[in-house]
Amino acid sequence: MLDWIATGLVAVGAVLMVVALVTAGRLVSDLPSGTVRRQWQVLAGLIFFFVAAYVAYLVTETGERESIVELLVPAAYFLGGYFVVLVALVSLQTARDIRRVAVLEEQSITDPLMGIYNRRHLERRLEEEVGKALRYGLPLSALLLDLDHFKSINDEHGHAVGDQVLRTLGDLMLDAVRKADIVTRYGGEEILVLAPHTSLSEGCLLAERLRSGVAAKTLVPGRETKDGQPVHATLSIGVAALGAEVRDGPALLKAADEALYRAKREGRNRVVAAGETVVA
Ligand code: GH3
Ligand code: MG
Ligand code: MG
Repeated sequence: MLDWIATGLVAVGAVLMVVALVTAGRLVSDLPSGTVRRQWQVLAGLIFFFVAAYVAYLVTETGERESIVELLVPAAYFLGGYFVVLVALVSLQTARDIRRVAVLEEQSITDPLMGIYNRRHLERRLEEEVGKALRYGLPLSALLLDLDHFKSINDEHGHAVGDQVLRTLGDLMLDAVRKADIVTRYGGEEILVLAPHTSLSEGCLLAERLRSGVAAKTLVPGRETKDGQPVHATLSIGVAALGAEVRDGPALLKAADEALYRAKREGRNRVVAAGETVVA
């Protein structure tokens, strides 16, 4: 009887170890390459060794057991299997939870239509970037972009095409800026680009590149519109930078907004720098 119990404990322990090995394999394929993945590869190798040891025990330990004390080692085998499978399952669950949280976090700061950051993210980053720029005496620019006559695109082609214009615009912006630049949806069809390490004149060059890039592109091809006409649009851009009179985030946004207002008033499809003349 004791023999059967011993064999049963070790056999169940072996099955748990095999489950742990499969779980470790799933973890290795789920994890991105790096230290943790390498560590789990080592752990999977160790679990494989344990499985072999369990089988060897089952094959070789066939002697008669007379006292219940002799069940201690088989019980340790069983609990060892249970322990390892628990660690593997908890780790797999934790890795998946972390990934899910990262996806949710990314979603919470991304505009679902344009695929760029949302205003919530801008508020956080604006404060950070202004603080850094003032502390280290670095330049910081803000570009406020607004589509010209966007309402008439919606009126002529419908809201779905208008949405497609915004989607294309988001992609164009992300392609055109540096990695350090923060591109955010500021309002309906307004985008704010926060450009660290960028002076007012460099910000104007960037703005002009964005303006001319959009003006030259087809935003929605004719095959996607009802009347078969491709959709083009232009941008007006106001540019401002931190300086003697602009010392914080709200002042920077206000200066960019005023420059944008002037760009609209002076004819649209142009770049205007805060406190200066029309740039292009
Ligand atoms: P202006 O050159 O003065 O900027 O003219 P405009 O027509 O672009 O300006 P206005 O602010 O009058 O209109 C903006 C339009 O943007 C109105 C609104 O319906 C549209 N809009 C805002 N958000 C969205 C959106 O998510 N999708 C679509 N399709 N349209 C949007
Ligand atoms: Mg507009
Ligand atoms: Mg607008």
